[in-house]
Formats: sequence, structure tokens, C-alpha cells
Amino acid sequence: MGAESAASSEGASAASPSVAALSSSGFESAATTQTHMGSTVPPWSAAHAYTNLYGVKTPITASVVGNVQVNDAGTANETHHIVLDFGAMPFPVLEGQSIGIIPPGVDAQGKPHHARQYSIASPRNGERAGYNNLSLTVKRVVEDHEGQPVKGVASNYLCDLETGDSVQVIGPFGASFLMPNHPKSNIVMICTGTGSAPMRAMTEWRRRLRQSGKFESGKLMLFFGARTQQELPYFGPLQKLPKDFIDIHFAFSRTPNQPKRYVQDLLRERSADITAMLQDANTCFYVCGLKSMEEGVLHALRDIANEAGLGWDVVAPVLKREGRLHLETY
Ligand SMILES: Cc1cc2nc3c(=O)[nH]c(=O)nc-3n(C[C@H](O)[C@H](O)[C@H](O)COP(=O)(O)OP(=O)(O)OC[C@H]3O[C@@H](n4cnc5c(N)ncnc54)[C@H](O)[C@@H]3O)c2cc1C
Repeated sequence: MGAESAASSEGASAASPSVAALSSSGFESAATTQTHMGSTVPPWSAAHAYTNLYGVKTPITASVVGNVQVNDAGTANETHHIVLDFGAMPFPVLEGQSIGIIPPGVDAQGKPHHARQYSIASPRNGERAGYNNLSLTVKRVVEDHEGQPVKGVASNYLCDLETGDSVQVIGPFGASFLMPNHPKSNIVMICTGTGSAPMRAMTEWRRRLRQSGKFESGKLMLFFGARTQQELPYFGPLQKLPKDFIDIHFAFSRTPNQPKRYVQDLLRERSADITAMLQDANTCFYVCGLKSMEEGVLHALRDIANEAGLGWDVVAPVLKREGRLHLETY
């Protein structure tokens, strides 16, 4: 299974950049293979997404207005919440979209660093409502996928930013991993680590709509995994959300003296709810996080559908066609 990045499961979408276009705009295409299970179209009630307003030759400059660690200080997988402000420059975004960051300096070959993609963690009307800003959830990469020590270029640059620093940004990207906007639409969010960024954005937008009293929301379910509670970003704020607003389930895979639990285990435990959601055309599923989670999550959804007699072979194409299953793993 591949990633939904700006060039992955959206690769077939007319509003999305092609892999070639992204390569020329500075992204590595390696992180952008296309998944075949995920939707390449947005939900029918999604808002219109602007994409590719700023490319690598014409980046926009944002100012850092905040940078705080959002998991327990000192844990592995140090993760930061970074707020970027665009001043008077247009940078319209939607929940589920991502941006590209161009780290300053050059690589080992003396070429400018390529841009890295980061999901937007704030709602469409700003990290602070009514402001032209957005937030990111960035994990400081200190080892590669094989566990060898490495200093990730962009993630370390971002995590070390200070208020007032300038950042070169391109994008926005993404025209299918977007939330439904119609009343009573349900959202099932399945994520690990920084995959929580788009889920935070969608949840916060729904929370603001609820506060306005003018929107009748459907159910929100969140299945969130991390190695430990200490490593999980936004653990504190998530605990404060009202239970009648969002149904939250955590899975921790490395809690001492506890069995390993993954998000797919949580899905299986809630199979009755998931079955109902799979059958309800008002429900959209979002999966985001490390690539390694995707297969397990899809297998759990398949087994739940099959055990309920729905037939995954029947359900999966419907979800994909109707813009109801969105995958973004990296
Ligand atoms: C669509 C999309 C959305 C993304 N959203 C986010 C996000 O919201 N937050 C976020 O933190 N990252 C996100 N990423 C990952 C991000 O783009 C970078 O790949 C990541 O920050 C590493 O970049 P780097 O420059 O620090 O590391 P690099 O210098 O590019 O790589 C250093 C080494 O680390 C390895 N590596 C790369 N990424 C990771 C990783 N995530 N974990 C462990 N090892 C890694 C590489 O294989 C390489 O060996 C997203 C990626 C995509 C495609």
C-alpha cells in the first residue's frame, strides 16, 4: 500500500499535481507511491480545495508565531506543534491538505534541499480562528526507518524554529483527503503519531461548528495509536474533548508490562460500530500515519466487513468511488 501524499492516492485527481510536476516542484517522488484502495475523489460535500498556489520557484514566506512540544518532553519521537502565519498573503487551506517546507541550505551534492510535505493540523479558518495562520505537527527525525541514527533535515529545522523566524512554504497540496461538510456526516479517524495532524484539523473544525450551534454533526470516532502515552501528541487536550462530541480510543504498543495494542485491535473491538459506519453513506474513513500501519488497518476493515456479511469486495469499491476511504501514510 502506498501513501496518499500530494502525488499519491490523489495522483489521478484532476485537481492534484502529477508526480512529475511534484518532482519538478522539489518533492522526492519516493514517498509518493499510489495506493489502490484509497479514494482519489473527495467526499461529495467537501469544500473546494485550492492547490499549488505556490511552487518551488515562487515559495511564500511565513513567520513562525509558535513552536511547542506536544508530547512529554524527553520522550523518543519528540513532536512539535508549530504555528506559521502568512500575514496579508493569500494561503487558503482545508483540513486534510498539506504544505511543503523548503529547508534552507544545500544537500551533500550542493543542491538546494528538496521540499518536505507536512499535513496541516489546524482548521480552515486558522489555528487561531480568524487569523491567517496554520499549524503543523512535526516529529523530530533522529533515526531512519531501520533505527540508525540520522538527523532529518526538515524535521530538525522545523522543530528548532523560534518565534519570528521566516520559513519558505509551497502548496497547498491535496484535493481528495478532505472532510465532508454535510450535516450528520460521520467521520472515522484512524491514525498514529503525527498522522494525528489532519485529524486534529477536522476535529477542531467540527468543534468550532458545534460551538456556533448552527451545524448538526454526525458521529466522530478517533482511533489513535502510539508507542506510549507519553509519546502520543496532544494527549492532554484530547482528554478534555466532551465524550458526546467525539468517541476516542487509544492504543499503545510499548507500555511496559502491557500487551501490545495497535489501532487495528481497537477497530476490531468496535466492530459493531465500524460495521454500521461502513454501511452508512454519510460516513467517511481517514487513515494517516506511518506507512507500516496501513496494511493492518485495511485488513481489520476487510475482516469486519466480511464477518458482518457485507463483503469487503463489495464495500471497498463503494468506499473508494464515493470518496469515503482516504489513506495518507508516509
Ligand atoms: C503527505 C505527507 C504528509 C506528511 N505529514 C507529516 C506530518 O504531518 N508530520 C511529520 O512529522 N512528517 C510528515 N511527513 C513526513 C515528512 O514529509 C518528512 O518525510 C519527515 O519529516 C522527514 O523529513 P526530514 O527532512 O527530517 O528527514 P530526511 O532528511 O528526509 O530523512 C532522514 C532519514 O530519516 C528517514 N525518515 C524520513 N521520514 C521519517 C519519519 N517520518 N520517521 C522516521 N524516519 C524517517 C529517511 O528515510 C531518511 O533515512 C509527511 C509526508 C508526506 C508524504
